[in-house]
Amino acid sequence: MRRKLIAGNWKMNGLKEEGLKLAKAVAEKCRGNLSFDVLICPPMNLLGLIGNQEHTNVLLGAQDVAETTKTAGAFTGDVSAEMVKDLGAACAIVGHSERRTLHHETNAVVCQKAQNAIQAGLTAVICIGETEAERDNNQALEVVARQIKESVPTNATAENCVIAYEPVWAIGTGKTPTTNDVAQMHAAIRHELATLLGSQTADNMRILYGGSVKPTNAKELLAVENVDGALIGGASLKIDDFWGIASTQL
Ligand code: PEP
Repeated sequence: MRRKLIAGNWKMNGLKEEGLKLAKAVAEKCRGNLSFDVLICPPMNLLGLIGNQEHTNVLLGAQDVAETTKTAGAFTGDVSAEMVKDLGAACAIVGHSERRTLHHETNAVVCQKAQNAIQAGLTAVICIGETEAERDNNQALEVVARQIKESVPTNATAENCVIAYEPVWAIGTGKTPTTNDVAQMHAAIRHELATLLGSQTADNMRILYGGSVKPTNAKELLAVENVDGALIGGASLKIDDFWGIASTQL
């Protein structure tokens, strides 16, 4: 039985005061026993501050880790997976489409970052997803299959890896695929994972959907077969929206 994961990607948003306030509000909502996991991925400036708060049910994640296999050294501006773990993170997003596009990260880079995260004891949340042009050209399944083959390390397990399917054209646009399209893609992703990692690992690995998830569409999207949670961008920045999505799973 795969436990659902509701994850917030705050992107480059949050100064100390508002970031801590939001993290506290999420922790407050998540008090007690939940039947699903909640993860927040604040920007690096807040990771240590939030990681130092008193114990909460909320998992903490980074939005990226360094590519180098070294855990320390002359890599200006980089933060290693080991450092992220040291700040209290349990997870790290890798391969978000904004990193793939704006920082030209290839599948090979994403795979290395995922490996570094796993090596440091983090769960890698590996993002994949096609562009609008690729979908229009009927290449979505092929592109996503290649991203899995090339971005998911072969030592990935259901414990150290989560896949986030995020069609690039749905991120921050208010557009979402139909539930049929989501079902087709998530089934295809699980099939590819089985080829790469074996059917037992694939059956247990969580596959999140991400792209314009809101309180109004969350219930429907999260009810689709093989959708094991959501990766939420914009709506994770407001407690009412984030909890509006998460609370559909109560
Ligand atoms: C994201 O960036 O991971 C994302 C899903 O963004 P949004 O929810 O704003 O579409």
